[in-house]
Amino acid sequence: MFADLIEALKTEGLDMSWQDFANCRGADPDLFFPERGASTRTAKGICRECSVQAECLEFAIVSSEKFGIWGAMSERERRKIRRERQIAVRRRQAG
Ligand code: SF4
Repeated sequence: MFADLIEALKTEGLDMSWQDFANCRGADPDLFFPERGASTRTAKGICRECSVQAECLEFAIVSSEKFGIWGAMSERERRKIRRERQIAVRRRQAG
């Protein structure tokens, strides 16, 4: 489902091999990129059964992926993690 993005990132040297094990292969992309207000339950359920959930989530966080469900988390949930990490880094630097 992320074929274009994956190809673009491969040229930047990022390891995307986890994608080969994605549980969402063949799933309806609309589940993972739902309209505003639509349910994300099915997509997150697929993610929770995915053997590369952690890798997928980390990729989406570090690449600041703005749309869709990645690693069973919405953009809002990932943004919260990014914020928490930034706070932790600032605390370490200040400490
Ligand atoms: S965690 Fe979800 S979005 Fe990521 S590869 Fe697995 S099924 Fe696909």
